[in-house]
Amino acid sequence: MKIYLNGEFVDKQDAKVSVFDHGYLYGDGVFEGIRAYNGVIFRLDEHIDRLYYGAKAIMLDIPLSKEEMKAAVVETVRRNNLYDAYIRLVVSRGEGDLGLDPRKCPRPTIVIIADSIQLYPKELYEKGMKAMTTYMRRNSPAALDPQIKSLNYLNNILAKLEANRCGYAEAIFLNDRGYVAECTGDNIFIVKDGVLITPPVTIAALGGITRKTVIEIAEQIGIKVEEREFTLYNLYNADECFLTGTAAEAIPVVEIDGRVIGDGKPGPITKKILQEFAEIVDKKGTKVYE
Ligand code: PMP
Repeated sequence: MKIYLNGEFVDKQDAKVSVFDHGYLYGDGVFEGIRAYNGVIFRLDEHIDRLYYGAKAIMLDIPLSKEEMKAAVVETVRRNNLYDAYIRLVVSRGEGDLGLDPRKCPRPTIVIIADSIQLYPKELYEKGMKAMTTYMRRNSPAALDPQIKSLNYLNNILAKLEANRCGYAEAIFLNDRGYVAECTGDNIFIVKDGVLITPPVTIAALGGITRKTVIEIAEQIGIKVEEREFTLYNLYNADECFLTGTAAEAIPVVEIDGRVIGDGKPGPITKKILQEFAEIVDKKGTKVYE
């Protein structure tokens, strides 16, 4: 495996970052998770835009242009001869001293890994998963805006630990005002009376690229979409529910906190959207091989 590290391709065992890197010491940095399907990178431009927006928000100057960064991602996939891949792109504040002051970090560290990922067991995509809500609230935008895909994932990890402990594959966060927000690594959608509803990203959710894709698919096939807040009551009484994310892709949810969603099986709109999603992923995008 060849890993991109600060402009060079190195073997996995040589891909090493300093223990003084502030990504390691403080979770100071931003990242992306991107997928390639059949030699085509899915929505690379949007992932790169989100990375640079996050970097801007945390005042991290990425020393590559967006075009250079895209080329580096493509080259990482190509060097590993991959067609289907999960790509992790990380830009940390870089090496500094033991204090948290970013001014002590002159050069960001850039890492690109192309590998694979399996977030949930395969059979859950067919029969749907059971999820729980966590007592943990999603970070408030007043403290750390979840729109920034930062290296600071402890909020998510704490919720994941709780889900693991309770025997669930995924935990659903509420925001600090008690409305449904998102999951540990996915956005959430419900269907009620034929309308697709998802929380707005500005309340406490990442602006997911899969989320955006699903909204576009729904609109194209004539399903009404609403981006608005909803409560646990709405969630429990939804006709259908599913989660979206680059790693997760799109996965139905059939039970939440012991309440059966709809008839306990992936619903018709969920199935239709999952099917459309699977059909488009390798149709448009950035080709790795000519
Ligand atoms: N929310 C969180 C907290 C995430 O980590 C992710 C995965 N990046 C998502 C939502 C889904 O975003 P995307 O569809 O862009 O992968």
